[in-house]
Amino acid sequence: MSRARSKRWITNTDVASFYVVFAREAGTKGHKGISALVVEANWPGVRWESLIDKLGQRCSHTGDVVFEDVEVPVSHLIAGPEHGFRLAMATFDRSRPWIAAGAAGVIRRARDEALTYAMQRKAFGEPIINHQMVAAMLADMEISYQATRLLTLNAASEVDAGNLRGSHSACAKAFGGDAAIRATTDAVQILGGYGYTKDFIVEKLMRDAKLLQIYEGTSQIQRLVIARDLMRAHV
Ligand SMILES: Cc1cc2nc3c(=O)[nH]c(=O)nc-3n(C[C@H](O)[C@H](O)[C@H](O)COP(=O)(O)OP(=O)(O)OC[C@H]3O[C@@H](n4cnc5c(N)ncnc54)[C@H](O)[C@@H]3O)c2cc1C
Repeated sequence: MSRARSKRWITNTDVASFYVVFAREAGTKGHKGISALVVEANWPGVRWESLIDKLGQRCSHTGDVVFEDVEVPVSHLIAGPEHGFRLAMATFDRSRPWIAAGAAGVIRRARDEALTYAMQRKAFGEPIINHQMVAAMLADMEISYQATRLLTLNAASEVDAGNLRGSHSACAKAFGGDAAIRATTDAVQILGGYGYTKDFIVEKLMRDAKLLQIYEGTSQIQRLVIARDLMRAHV
């Protein structure tokens, strides 16, 4: 009897030549029993389906990968049952800084778009940037950009130096994701009605930014990682 299993939300579903699969051995629980395997996309029994119609980041495809009676040779085992979970967590520690880097980029673009508009658009006889509440939103974007950039560089330099504290990656990712949705929403606000149209890029930035709070572990999960690390360091 064939037993198909699928994994949803796989980035680059349709263009990947291989997938890294974390699979649990039957009968195991918790962190133990999870292995990591490389599964080639062109193997018998491996297929992708149903690309998902997403809110943002639409240039990147996301879909389901289906595995049906797939045999994986031992040469493709990259972490055995005792080490798979640890490998997944170590991967996140290294991948979260580049999500934060993406956040810094989105915030910077939102700031630039909003700044240009605010200096040109006049309301009540003067450029809207002269209205303090508009200027304050731009200042907050700049604060967010600088802080996200520095948290990212801090985590990335720790990765390079081989002394990464995982919670520092989580700090960069959580702060950047939250700051990006705030900054892009404010950019839409500064452009007023035009911000809410497809004529300006800020609506796209806002849709793209939302995902930064979700993938690679949600903003809530980052906070759990950070809090647990604080507790570990305290005892
Ligand atoms: C576009 C996109 C691309 C993705 N790419 C990949 C990929 O390539 N590979 C891959 O494996 N996954 C991928 N994902 C999956 C992604 O990592 C998950 O969607 C994400 O981790 C959230 O998991 P979930 O969707 O199951 O939400 P859930 O876990 O159901 O969470 C729902 C809500 O509950 C909150 N929540 C859940 N548990 C807790 C808790 N313990 N404490 C507090 N709050 C909690 C969450 O923060 C969230 O707000 C992708 C997702 C998207 C949307």
